[in-house]
Amino acid sequence: YVLLHHVMGELEGRRGAWGYVAGGMGALSQAIAQAATARGAHVFAEKAVCHVLLGRDGEAQGVALQDGTEVRSKLVLSNASPQITFLELIPEEQLPKDFVQRIRQVDTCSPVTKINVAVDRLPSFLAAPNARDGQPLPHHQCSIHLNCEDTQLLHQAFTEAAHGHPSSRPMIELCIPSVLDPGLAPPGCHVVSLFTQYTPYVLAGGQSWDEQARNAYAD
Ligand SMILES: Cc1cc2nc3c(=O)[nH]c(=O)nc-3n(C[C@H](O)[C@H](O)[C@H](O)COP(=O)(O)OP(=O)(O)OC[C@H]3O[C@@H](n4cnc5c(N)ncnc54)[C@H](O)[C@@H]3O)c2cc1C
Repeated sequence: YVLLHHVMGELEGRRGAWGYVAGGMGALSQAIAQAATARGAHVFAEKAVCHVLLGRDGEAQGVALQDGTEVRSKLVLSNASPQITFLELIPEEQLPKDFVQRIRQVDTCSPVTKINVAVDRLPSFLAAPNARDGQPLPHHQCSIHLNCEDTQLLHQAFTEAAHGHPSSRPMIELCIPSVLDPGLAPPGCHVVSLFTQYTPYVLAGGQSWDEQARNAYAD
């Protein structure tokens, strides 16, 4: 499904194309914040919401922050997950039982682990080694797929995770945004973003995803 949806769609009339946000994904949040601020919005970062303030009839009237501050409003919009919004920030008795049940049933377990790395040179692949001058080649500007050359490989990776073990040869979809946006890394260096799967949400034997387990998978 992931492979399929990553090659579907269209960008500026080009089928299957993806785009990078200039300046990195953070630039998108900054652009939204700047546009909102220019129209009079106040942006507060690092202010965790403790709960939604409700009126007598259960209507949202604002939010209480963890530092005790109360922010009153006519409307509350939340882009925290449905689980956080409805199961943690609002008392359960204020919501219809069947609605709470439906939110509890939303399954957001993911088999994907995203790994972002900074490297001191342009990656060179055995299948397409870099040129002598070290300049990026066309494939450096694209999504690069590894370990999904056939469905058997994908199936094996999936089966290992279904038994609670991270795939020994995970499917990797990687991109090197700094090839197209050199400002993301110092000269000659690059940032590489790897979308990998499968990693089981729960490890075999109840082992936790501690630092050691995470590093072992990343290695
Ligand atoms: C592994 C993975 C890879 C992805 N890759 C891509 C990709 O390559 N390209 C792409 O376009 N999209 C990608 N996505 C999807 C993209 O990340 C999401 O669509 C996007 O982040 C959703 O933005 P959002 O603002 O709705 O939610 P979020 O980014 O989840 O933001 C919700 C925010 O609410 C905050 N929050 C939670 N609780 C509270 C609280 N009590 N008080 C205050 N704040 C709170 C959280 O800290 C968080 O910052 C990927 C997603 C995943 C999981």
